[in-house]
Amino acid sequence: CAKEEGRGSYRLFEPQMGAQVRDRRLLEHDLRLALARDQLALVYQPQVDIETAEVTGFEVLLRWTHPERGAVPPAKFIPIAEETGLIMQLGEWVMRSACKEAASWSNPLSVAVNVSAVQLHATHFVDFVRDVLRTTGLAPARLEIEITETAMIRNINRAISNLRQVKALGVKVAMDDFGTGYSSLSNLRAFPFDRIKVDQSFIRAVHDNDQSAAIVRAVLGLGKGLNLPILAEGVERPEELEFLRNEICHSAQGYWFGRPQHIGVYADVISGRRRTLDAHLPPLGEKR
Ligand code: C2E
Ligand code: MG
Ligand code: MG
Ligand code: MG
Repeated sequence: CAKEEGRGSYRLFEPQMGAQVRDRRLLEHDLRLALARDQLALVYQPQVDIETAEVTGFEVLLRWTHPERGAVPPAKFIPIAEETGLIMQLGEWVMRSACKEAASWSNPLSVAVNVSAVQLHATHFVDFVRDVLRTTGLAPARLEIEITETAMIRNINRAISNLRQVKALGVKVAMDDFGTGYSSLSNLRAFPFDRIKVDQSFIRAVHDNDQSAAIVRAVLGLGKGLNLPILAEGVERPEELEFLRNEICHSAQGYWFGRPQHIGVYADVISGRRRTLDAHLPPLGEKR
């Protein structure tokens, strides 16, 4: 069943395609329609200052509800979007929508947007960010872009140049998933980051795992030496948080504080009616 795609009219299926390739091609086809058909949505996950327990901002995460398949995880569709170039359109929709949303909050919290390598390498990236800030009226310092290490190994020069120009606008830049990609240390030296997000794989059961504990301590030391705040990703348990608090980690994010949800769930926080979440942080210095 060879279908025709409007532009360039390539065949959707070739007889020799394996099942996996066919499935990918199908998803790609459907992803092209997803934006126009209103199947994409943004969810927001709180980021918390460990010392004060206050929410400092939200990370924005993209969700796709496929009409037949239901929720398709970003780990599945983001790589397809990157390979096909669709990520440009998706990424721009994400950033524009997120900045518009954040600009409407009474509480001037930050909003962190994941930016793909493909976007970062585009010549018009800086102009695009400038335009989003101008049209939404969001204060540049409230926008943070999250870059993964793997995102940076391609064409380093353009990426550095674009990052520096975006920073010059006042936008913050975070290194995402620290510790899982390649050459993380040289990237730290090459890029003007404002903070480091330690990958959740190191936080998982950190209180109970000597290797993870040693790695997280080392990253915290690195952050201290480089004067870069550290955010711990994927905090799920109070024991993990307790470890981070004792080791003086600056901030955290994870299911323990709040899941990525429709922003309405966090209405009290964005309105400024409350500054903390319901996760029960022990008072400072208290040991369990
Ligand atoms: P990420 O940027 O590292 O986002 C954190 C991921 O960890 C999210 O997965 C989030 O739902 C999940 N998470 C947060 N707290 C916890 C926790 O306590 N436990 C566990 N087990 N997981 C937690 P998600 O939403 O599936 O996104 C996966 C990745 O897809 C993201 O990793 C990011 O790299 C990418 N992604 C998501 N949205 C976008 C987007 O709008 N643009 C781009 N370029 N990439 C995106
Ligand atoms: Mg991220
Ligand atoms: Mg991450
Ligand atoms: Mg990740």
